[in-house]
Amino acid sequence: MIHSVYSNKDVFLRELVSNASDALDKLRLEKLWDDSLDADVSDLHIEIDIDKDARTLTVRDNGVGMSYDEVGQLIGTIANSGTAKFLQELRDAKDKAGEEGLIGQFGVGFYSGFMVADEVTLLTRRAGETQGTRWTSRGEGTYTLETVDDAPQGTSVTLHLKPADPENQLHDYTSPWKIREIIKRYSDFITWPIRMMPEASAAADSGDETPEPETLNSMKALWARPRDEVSDDEYHELYKHIGHDWRDPLETIRLQAEGTFEYQALLFLPAHAPHDLFTRDFKRGVQLYVKRVFIMDDCEALLPPYLRFVKGVVDAADLSLNVSREILQQDRHIEMMRRRLTKKVLSTVKEMMTKDRERYDTFWREFGTVLKEGLVTDAENRDAILAVASFASTHHDTEPTTLKQYVERMKDGQEDIYYLTGESRQSIENSPHMEAFRARGIEVLLLTDPVDEVWADAVGEYEGKKLRSVAKGQIDLDAKDEESGDEEREKQTEEYAGLLGWMKEQLDEDIKEVRLSSRLTVSPACVVSDAHDLTPALENMYRAMGQ
Ligand code: ADP
Ligand code: MG
Repeated sequence: MIHSVYSNKDVFLRELVSNASDALDKLRLEKLWDDSLDADVSDLHIEIDIDKDARTLTVRDNGVGMSYDEVGQLIGTIANSGTAKFLQELRDAKDKAGEEGLIGQFGVGFYSGFMVADEVTLLTRRAGETQGTRWTSRGEGTYTLETVDDAPQGTSVTLHLKPADPENQLHDYTSPWKIREIIKRYSDFITWPIRMMPEASAAADSGDETPEPETLNSMKALWARPRDEVSDDEYHELYKHIGHDWRDPLETIRLQAEGTFEYQALLFLPAHAPHDLFTRDFKRGVQLYVKRVFIMDDCEALLPPYLRFVKGVVDAADLSLNVSREILQQDRHIEMMRRRLTKKVLSTVKEMMTKDRERYDTFWREFGTVLKEGLVTDAENRDAILAVASFASTHHDTEPTTLKQYVERMKDGQEDIYYLTGESRQSIENSPHMEAFRARGIEVLLLTDPVDEVWADAVGEYEGKKLRSVAKGQIDLDAKDEESGDEEREKQTEEYAGLLGWMKEQLDEDIKEVRLSSRLTVSPACVVSDAHDLTPALENMYRAMGQ
């Protein structure tokens, strides 16, 4: 799949257009918030110019532009670019076979221009500023930066195309036909006009003084078009643009709400968790539009935090164009929308689970940890989340189980669902707590995410069956033996009273009680918490949080 990203050089144009579109969105918003901003927003658009003789291709926008410092930060080093993210995730990817050699090339984001160009020039002026900046690089790690006095507002990126390959006419980016095709394929939905000037010679032939530019994209919002008119590929391209991802999404979700508060939503479940998903400043939320006009990115009011990985667009008909984040947080309609979208995402996951288990497994592997946060924070959807959750278990080495499946396998007389938390599957399986369960063939869920301790406590039960940690409190595994066991144990407790007393004295600072146990088969002793105590891992977590 990664290979196809590289072999398909056409995507460089999608990336440049995507950046130009973002820059136009940003400028429109800045002007909306601050009318005194000295910027022209009367004809925001993207322009593509081809110069066959010079072999250059220029993508120009009259958007927000960049200041001198911004060019240095955003473009000068690839550290912040989509390319950097791409390379990072390539390195994170488990399956690295054959990709190392490709890492030196550039696949996505601004730097993808170097797939087709041996030199790139960027000329830009930040809206509201007077001085422009020119950046030039051959993509080999160095670049030049200079100030320019007469730069137009916005950004133009000029690619000095690599020499033509006579063998491969398919990649002739000086051909208007080719450009038309790429834009149609990848960028048709872009909400700003993408224009191309007719070739100089064609214009001269027609005798036209001022040749009319041609608009290449339909600008139709995909979420507003009927499902059967839009191909999966078109949806995927939209995802790549708004999700800043180069891979197809795992699932596309459409929702149309009619009535008093009308909206359309197009949501995507990505196929891979981004590596900053658990950092404090992870940008969460989907894009908000009002009647096809982009309002904001990362609109966190539209989905709960545990669905922060969902990407997409929500287009609401009845909001004010300058609605603020604060207002959204309190709006009753938005609240209803969030509940509906949440349920829709969860029911989609449920559907994946029954219809396409493999896809579901991918989803859960990537996002299960995040989703489980909802078990603690979203009581309303607790059951829906439990229904789509799956866990490692002693039942199978690699295949996770749902709680439903666990319950179906429960032994006669088994009342509770057992789990044990720990750092890794292996460390849990080696725990002395597991011995009695293993000996009796009772299945135990093996929970290794930090959040597991919290939700298991908070949720308490599933379908009337208690969730019980095998490390907490007294657990009577075989009630029948217990009668005789009790007598036996009393006798033994008397017998060992001296030893137990001595141990208690020695460990007094750290423990509450020492008692004989029937739960061990091999280990001589283990530490058990009271049913309501914090487990050791939770204690560590709270301590780490300074509580
Ligand atoms: P990404 O789009 O995923 O952030 P890119 O490599 O495509 O990564 O771009 C890096 C950054 O450079 C963008 O986030 C943006 O801030 C800036 N940038 C790129 N192109 C433009 C442009 N045409 N106008 C304004 N800023 C731009
Ligand atoms: Mg980009």
